[in-house]
Amino acid sequence: MHEKKTKHGLVHAYFLYHYIRGSHTLNYMPMNLMIEPTNRCNLKCRMCPQDGLMTREKGLMDFELYKRIIDEAKNFVWCVQLFHTGESLLHPSLPEMIEYACQAGMYTVLNTNACLLTEEKSSQLIKAGLSQISFSFDGPNQQAYEQIRVGASYIQVMNNIKAFIALKKQQQARQPYTLLEVIPMEETQAYLPDFLKELKSFGADDVRCWGYHEWTHNKSINNHYYPCEYPYTTMAVYWDGRVGPCCMDYDGKYIIGDVKEQSLTQIWNSLKLQRLRAAFQDRSYSQIEPCQNCSFLTSPKTYVSLSGKAFRILSGMVGKARKARKK
Ligand code: SF4
Ligand code: SF4
Repeated sequence: MHEKKTKHGLVHAYFLYHYIRGSHTLNYMPMNLMIEPTNRCNLKCRMCPQDGLMTREKGLMDFELYKRIIDEAKNFVWCVQLFHTGESLLHPSLPEMIEYACQAGMYTVLNTNACLLTEEKSSQLIKAGLSQISFSFDGPNQQAYEQIRVGASYIQVMNNIKAFIALKKQQQARQPYTLLEVIPMEETQAYLPDFLKELKSFGADDVRCWGYHEWTHNKSINNHYYPCEYPYTTMAVYWDGRVGPCCMDYDGKYIIGDVKEQSLTQIWNSLKLQRLRAAFQDRSYSQIEPCQNCSFLTSPKTYVSLSGKAFRILSGMVGKARKARKK
């Protein structure tokens, strides 16, 4: 345990050093890995690219390919997020996937719309050793929820979430950590305080509000520039084995490699990823789709274990320093 913590601390130190320097090649491997079991979804939420924007082919990740990824990643990745642009519960082998990563010593995270969370599935997820589950549940009432989460039933989803939390309690399972996530929208703002109070009564470990990801399009990001830290912390594997830099690239516009042909280690310092890191240093990201319109560059993130405030100050300083260097 002590050795693991020391290694984790060292990787964060490397990350900070290389992120501040704007290095193109890195002497450490990513701490986070996103894996997309499937990009299919049972819903068409209003704010999601599933609703007509995503053009890439839909499918399910092959379990043997998944095992190969985990077999390599377990040597350096701390956290595996088993979702990208889709509903992961649609993958029939999801519990086995979770179990495989947990047995490899990784922290596993699942984000779900909870529509398909039957008692049997819930039991399988708990038994598999899942470390954290986030339920997306953002409607303050049936009408608003069903207008946003098109295809879902408010009552059914609410009951599924409550039943999951009750089952975990009944089984006296320490894991997964349960999280209710709400995306505030203009039309739901007025109901939010009461809704959050109601959600807290469900008994989850935490309730959080997240802003949903937006694209800046023609809005300038010059005055609030925070270099993206994804290329220094994360890789995202699509269901078909292709790899992107983050979960924002829902359509695979910037492919950095393919795990069917390359190892994660090769991809991490590939020319495509080096080019992306360089683009955040010399600000040529405007030539890179999808980064050119990504609002992640206007807001700081907290992927390292620093407080949000400390990281905001740090990434703001890095942005200014790189801007000054360019002049
Ligand atoms: S449940 Fe998630 S992936 Fe599916 S449409 Fe809604 S936001 Fe998109
Ligand atoms: S700027 Fe946005 S699209 Fe580009 S790597 Fe970062 S999060 Fe992904």
